[in-house]
Amino acid sequence: MRTLITGGAGFVGSHLCERFLAEGHEVICVDNFITGRPVNIQHLRANPKFRVIVHDASQPLFVDGLLDNVLHFASPASPIDYVKSSIQTLKIGSLGTHVALGIAKAHGARFLLASTSEVYGDPVVHPQTESYWGNVNPVGERSMYDEAKRFAEAMTMAYHREHGVNTHIIRIFNTYGPRMRLDDGRVLPNFVGQALRGDPLTVYGEGQQTRSFCYVLDLVEGIYRLLQKDYPHPVNLGNPSEITIKQFADEILKHTGSKSAIVYRPLPPDDPKQRKPDITLARTLLGWEPKIGREEGLKLTLDYFRTKV
Ligand code: NAD
Ligand code: UDP
Repeated sequence: MRTLITGGAGFVGSHLCERFLAEGHEVICVDNFITGRPVNIQHLRANPKFRVIVHDASQPLFVDGLLDNVLHFASPASPIDYVKSSIQTLKIGSLGTHVALGIAKAHGARFLLASTSEVYGDPVVHPQTESYWGNVNPVGERSMYDEAKRFAEAMTMAYHREHGVNTHIIRIFNTYGPRMRLDDGRVLPNFVGQALRGDPLTVYGEGQQTRSFCYVLDLVEGIYRLLQKDYPHPVNLGNPSEITIKQFADEILKHTGSKSAIVYRPLPPDDPKQRKPDITLARTLLGWEPKIGREEGLKLTLDYFRTKV
């Protein structure tokens, strides 16, 4: 089997490269390192089945030989990254998805799109089911990401319906683990970095907004299982254990043993008030559910971050 992974040098992408290599696949990682890092895949370079193509995946790419799978994970993913690179984010979600689908079509390969819970926007249905169409501000400060991913889903379904490509769409809910960048601005690296340095933890708003955090290896298992199925419609992948951001800050303080204070900062515009996946579909279709709870996942993640601060 030969698998191409765009965004393979990123946080999630690097774990995917590892998993597909472990399953015996040849893996081609396509990345331009806009938010990913060479160090994330350094340990894989010695494997003769691993190849890296440094390339902007919004631009056409022609790959020699057979391909069985194309996994499209390239995109800035943290709010500060996608706001800083807003046009690049729109291009990789739109033009990049078109390029990746074109590669899959040309090779008769399976295709999987990394979509996001952000397609639900600031959801009024809770928990979020795949049948919910969302509540997205099309011109808001997150729109470069939300709308790019919504377009990417539409483009994926069009390639399925019009060209018969064997497509898959996952909607990923907040995922964490080793290889997140300490400075990517997402809540976990922010809180952990602040706690380990003894700086105050910055809770945005009153901290009553909720998220549901999934450990990265649980996500990777769900992705691997979905790729074996012929199911073109979106599937939520995430951990339904929901927590407020203030409770999350308290948990980080407990797990790090830090004496840092908690300070409150303004809530960014359009920050979703609640987020929790309904994973009934993934449970029934894939026999999948997360196995690694926050206690264990945070321990594994802290072991990694302690070597970085
Ligand atoms: P990340 O920023 O660590 O990884 C993204 C990777 O894509 C990086 O290596 C980056 O360099 C690469 N990339 C971006 N634009 C590119 C381009 N034009 N050409 C080539 N490479 C490019 O982020 P992540 O958390 O690993 O997210 C990976 C994917 O999963 C993204 O598509 C993201 O939208 C999706 N996702 C992640 C989460 C999460 O919680 N981590 C949640 C929802 C969706
Ligand atoms: N957040 C916070 N403090 C921080 C970073 C984030 O309170 O230092 C909040 C943010 O406002 C959001 C939640 O934590 O409500 C998750 O933010 P993140 O950027 O990780 O991802 P999102 O789920 O918003 O895409």
